[in-house]
Amino acid sequence: MKVVTTIAEMQHVRSTFGADTLGFVPTMGYLHAGHLSLVRYSVAENMRSVVSIFVNPTQFGPGEDLARYPRDLERDLALLSPLGLDCVFVPAVNEMYPSAPGPSTVVTVHGPTECLEGSMRPGHFAGVATVVAKLFNIIRPTRAYFGQKDAQQVAVITKMVDDLNFPLRVVVCPTVREADGLAMSSRNVFLTPTDRETAKLISCGLFAAAALWQAGERKAAVLEAAVHESLRQGSFIAIDYVAVVDPLTFDPYTSGSSAALIAVAARVGATRLIDNILLSRAAPV
Ligand code: AMP
Repeated sequence: MKVVTTIAEMQHVRSTFGADTLGFVPTMGYLHAGHLSLVRYSVAENMRSVVSIFVNPTQFGPGEDLARYPRDLERDLALLSPLGLDCVFVPAVNEMYPSAPGPSTVVTVHGPTECLEGSMRPGHFAGVATVVAKLFNIIRPTRAYFGQKDAQQVAVITKMVDDLNFPLRVVVCPTVREADGLAMSSRNVFLTPTDRETAKLISCGLFAAAALWQAGERKAAVLEAAVHESLRQGSFIAIDYVAVVDPLTFDPYTSGSSAALIAVAARVGATRLIDNILLSRAAPV
């Protein structure tokens, strides 16, 4: 497993792969079992695989947790090395953005960026879309792997790939959860034992709403109320949103559609957590 820090070397390594299929997993590091599941899908489905580790400053707003975002490259490389991937790309910030503080060219995706995370975190999705576009151009993958955990990010990247004709397939992998249902996240490391108890109420609420959906409930207000009822049992600093939306466009859900997604963002202590559950005629994931 090669560890590469410059764009020039990454492009060289990519050129040695020739026509082999290439899977790519972009991450911000501090890896957990959710990230590793994406890597396993990539290694299973492609002849070559590359993971990137880059805490992208342009997707953090002022006052967000860029400075304290957890980082441990040595640990990440130790977790990745047994998985059979070819290369880990770990660029420094000035390698990705030589013209500080950020790029002059920015990818703006309209539509799914205009609500929920997009409204709460202005500029976040422009930062995400731009860095992912750069990584796609550097790595030129056949397939790129993203987690359902960040459902709105999936909608944004899928739209960007479609609109800008990136020659690759976006593969969406299921959310990996702790035994009690809490969605795995690098930020969970910040949760105190009391925060942890509160945090698990997010997935409890989502599962309760999914059970209602399975039983035939289709009213957004009723599904949202089931989540709120669970959240009320914990001591959240704030509940940023609980919303039933269309999983592709992120427009508000209209009863009658066969698929819906319930998205939640809430603050526990100093940590902001997001989670969601996809609802369709089949079982929720
Ligand atoms: P991040 O390092 O948080 O930017 O995440 C990198 C990728 O891992 C993104 O595609 C995330 O959606 C995905 N991911 C993060 N947490 C999970 C999880 N619990 N289950 C599955 N995928 C995840």
